[in-house]
Amino acid sequence: MFKAFKYRIFPSESQKELIAKHIGSSRFVYNLALETKNTAYLGSKHNFSPFDLIKQLPELKKECEWLKEVNSQSLQQSIQNMDIAFKKFFKGAGFPKFKSKHKGKQSFSIPQNVLVENDLLIIPKFKEGIKISLHRPTEGIIKSATISATSTGKYFVSILCDTKQDIPSKEPIKESTTIGVDLGIKDFATTSEGEVFENPKNLRKAQSRLKYVQRKYSKNKGKRTKKRLALLHEKVVNKRKDFLHKVSTKLIRENQTIALENLNVAGMVKNHNLAQAISDVSWSTFVTMLEYKADWYGKNILRIGRFAPSSKTCSCCGTINKELTLKDREWTCPKCNSVLDRDISAAINIKSFALKNNLSGEHTLKNQGELLTLVKVLIPEAHPIAFGVGG
Ligand SMILES: [Zn+2]
Repeated sequence: MFKAFKYRIFPSESQKELIAKHIGSSRFVYNLALETKNTAYLGSKHNFSPFDLIKQLPELKKECEWLKEVNSQSLQQSIQNMDIAFKKFFKGAGFPKFKSKHKGKQSFSIPQNVLVENDLLIIPKFKEGIKISLHRPTEGIIKSATISATSTGKYFVSILCDTKQDIPSKEPIKESTTIGVDLGIKDFATTSEGEVFENPKNLRKAQSRLKYVQRKYSKNKGKRTKKRLALLHEKVVNKRKDFLHKVSTKLIRENQTIALENLNVAGMVKNHNLAQAISDVSWSTFVTMLEYKADWYGKNILRIGRFAPSSKTCSCCGTINKELTLKDREWTCPKCNSVLDRDISAAINIKSFALKNNLSGEHTLKNQGELLTLVKVLIPEAHPIAFGVGG
């Protein structure tokens, strides 16, 4: 099983320069390879394999001498990454984008020869080692690494390891060990057992400060405001990730099966009032975390369709109350007189809908047997990496 471990690193000034060269060269080769593949395909329907393009690197180095300063395996990996983006495109993802110096993740890959020794990260071209803050050990055999730089001047390495453990087989789905989870806006999540996970206060505070600075920046695009904005943004992202890790780990540890509603975030974001709230609580990141953690620990994720009226159905007798509005937090069932908490009742319904579907064979065990792979870790935008900073 593959697992990624993320650490902060502290390069010296000259190492920072060499990191910048690796990032720049990797981006350059990526964009060039993308352009080449694309043009060849449009022009002559020729489909370049990554191997075809890698074979062209020595010739490119004659043209661009500066490429010789960086680890050639990182450049080869850049081409592999571009090819992966293309494969995803053919499976329905967006067309591969050119990498920008100013937008998106600034990173480069080290596909082999990665070593961690005496609090030093040792990789090709950095033989003296980069200082690493090893807050937890890696597990198993180190396969590869990705070094990234943030816009706030911090550096990280994500180390991919083969833990040599077998993929745990899935636990059987039983009513007694299944929990339903309702994701909400007022509270982040409510379970069928009545546990409520509120959005943390410190996150809300950081978010409103971020909004304030964003407004200020739109009027005065000074360098200092820009830096402050980047720092605040980073803070919000880290706090949010930390919160999502805590909740997802707790749910996975304590339950064998987790039932969820399919999210229709794209549809809901159109509703202007909800947009901010939804992006803030990051449901989709949370569901991704639940899914890969379920794979690690052999747990199940069950999904129900968005159309099941989970919040309008009485969890005691099944009566659907069409009169219910978003404002009604508590309601009394007109048929059986049960007093229901809207969110808890919804979570109980999600659980029973999911189990019912499961018994009738219509369920989809999302991602069963699908594991965090090299590809997913190398493209962290699409598949957030397992461990956050200090997580
Ligand atoms: Zn009822």
